[in-house]
Amino acid sequence: AADLPHLAETDPTAKALGYVEDASKATDPKRVAGDTCANCQFFTNGPGGFGPCQLFPGKAVSAKGWCVSHATKKA
Ligand code: SF4
Repeated sequence: AADLPHLAETDPTAKALGYVEDASKATDPKRVAGDTCANCQFFTNGPGGFGPCQLFPGKAVSAKGWCVSHATKKA
């Protein structure tokens, strides 16, 4: 998963899901404080604080990011 291009907030799918690289800047009312890609079940940690997300094939999302499809990782 090294060197995947970072998902841009301007990517149409990213926009549709309200993805932001900095979860604290999410304006969507669905965001719950503390929820980030890092604790989402679709995220795999990768280099540099970014990693693949199952919802965005071929792209790396920020561990500190967030989108409306966030689902808390099961313990
Ligand atoms: Fe981040 Fe989860 Fe949304 Fe993927 S599905 S962008 S890991 S919050």
